[in-house]
Amino acid sequence: MAPHTLSKSDFKLARTCDAKLFFRENGYPDNRDMNPYLALLAEGGYMVEALAKAKYVDGVQLEYGRGVVDDYQRTIDQLGRDQVTLFEATLLVGRQQARVDILEKKGNTVRLLEVKAKSFDGAEHAASLSEGRAGALRGKKKPYKIFSEWVEKLEDITFQVLLLEKVLPGVTIKPFLVLVDTSKNALIDNIPSLFELVRRTSADGSTRLLTARYTGSPEQLAHLDLVTEVDVSAEVAMLRDDVAEAAAIYESRLDSPLSVHSVGIERRSKCGACEFRVDESAEKSGFDECWGALATPRPHMLELFSIGTCKAPDRSSLVDWMVGQQKASLFDIPEDCLVKADGRIGSNAERQRRQIEFTRRGDVFLSTDLRGKVEALHGPMYFIDFETSRLALPYHAGMRSYGLVTFQWSCHTVASLGDKPTHAEWLNKTDVWPNRAFAESLREAIGDSGQVLTWSHFEGTTLKQIIADLDKFGHVVPELVDWMTDVFENRIVDLHNWAKYDFYHPGMRGRTSIKVVLDALWKSDAPMRKQFEAWTGMVADESRDPYASLPPVEISGVFQDVHEGTGAMRAYQEMMYGVDKNDPAKKDMWAGLLQRYCELDTLSMVLILEHWRRCVGLA
Ligand code: SF4
Repeated sequence: MAPHTLSKSDFKLARTCDAKLFFRENGYPDNRDMNPYLALLAEGGYMVEALAKAKYVDGVQLEYGRGVVDDYQRTIDQLGRDQVTLFEATLLVGRQQARVDILEKKGNTVRLLEVKAKSFDGAEHAASLSEGRAGALRGKKKPYKIFSEWVEKLEDITFQVLLLEKVLPGVTIKPFLVLVDTSKNALIDNIPSLFELVRRTSADGSTRLLTARYTGSPEQLAHLDLVTEVDVSAEVAMLRDDVAEAAAIYESRLDSPLSVHSVGIERRSKCGACEFRVDESAEKSGFDECWGALATPRPHMLELFSIGTCKAPDRSSLVDWMVGQQKASLFDIPEDCLVKADGRIGSNAERQRRQIEFTRRGDVFLSTDLRGKVEALHGPMYFIDFETSRLALPYHAGMRSYGLVTFQWSCHTVASLGDKPTHAEWLNKTDVWPNRAFAESLREAIGDSGQVLTWSHFEGTTLKQIIADLDKFGHVVPELVDWMTDVFENRIVDLHNWAKYDFYHPGMRGRTSIKVVLDALWKSDAPMRKQFEAWTGMVADESRDPYASLPPVEISGVFQDVHEGTGAMRAYQEMMYGVDKNDPAKKDMWAGLLQRYCELDTLSMVLILEHWRRCVGLA
């Protein structure tokens, strides 16, 4: 077996927690492998990388994967040339290795470019530099500290620079981050269709995204000005000593047991979101190894809503303090310490105390306000949900990177509480910037009066963004703007706030997403299931909520499903721009997947409101 090496992604991971390097090197299951949002980001990231590389027409794509020593040797052979641009050059020094996105060598000078799909404002950066400040990646005042959100990216490129200095001693190295520049606009439509995603299918049938390739023409490429190369020499100089020291330590630990990696690790609230905290059915769990006996209490203290903000009786971090006391049960949290800094009980602390109390009692909490809030509702009531996407490389000319595309809404209308809801929906199927049609069709559906019920502030925020975008795209529609303003200023009732502050069910634990709340109520609320059957004509499976029951649909030989917002974004992309985009039958199948998912979101809101109505004695 090849010895472990410290890659740049290993380094990045270890910087977030020392113990993670051990779990990565030793093949512990990682819950990010199943994360659809990260998968979507990866697709965008590969396309941005392919775009950055396409600008280097003479670039040599180096094959890799036959072993790091062979890969490195191929790089060294190429670097023997006086002038060369390499893609995926492999650097290897001791057991530290990195694959460089773009390496451009001209004589004694080498530009090292790391491509990131992260957005940044190139115009703001240039203005900052011209005014004598340090650019958009750093603070506005001396000593111009690097913003924390950029540290990881800059450490990544610093790690590569340190290796390259040893591989090519004596050359001048100029490091650049290649970033998605939100101050630039797309000049042509359908930019993602100019890229091909390359996947590899394993023996078990699973597929893995490998890379992306630019497949457009040179003329189209000339219109693709969406990324900016940012000189980060100064930032690399600031970070190099820290990075060198940390990398040397991680390298020295590569073959060590967990006890060496975990010297001084802190078991904190961050562990709740650790990638090595996996399903109980997994054969091994990094979280369990870090937390030992403290991993097992149920309910666990890490389930407490916003535990990261809580202080212990001695005002140290609550999680630290609990670990110090060898306690990790939710029920061991001293409730007296759940207060604000000034000793008052704020809304968050109230919610935390409620979670502990009602979980202990196995009971449901209803605020004294909930009945009044339900009573104040009046028909017609429009339960709405939006599906949107923001992609690194936009589909429509005039859009900036990560600009908003509103592609779908669903609305259940209830004339008065208890009535069977009627459903309306809209899904964009035309290849034009859809945001204006989205708003106009919504207006047609929900009119100029009536309450608009949502499950977050997202719908209101989206309408505000559409107003800003209409202006940018030159659409002069004052009436539509007035209508949207009235909706978000006067008509929206956010049921998510009710779930946060007026209601608690032990099955929700510390969470309040619509899927979590529906799932918490579904199994125990027979009237809810009856209502679902009466309204939809479908059979309600007591053991699984309707989201879990959505069966996958086979499209082009692959079973597809949409269970969350990221899945909806992917399905929309497939429908509009995927391989089946010109096949009406397949397009309809994608549309069907999207519609039933979004419809379920708004129906769930009605079902939950009906549940609350029953709870407060109004049904
Ligand atoms: S569980 Fe916590 S300590 Fe262990 S690897 Fe994850 S973040 Fe680090």
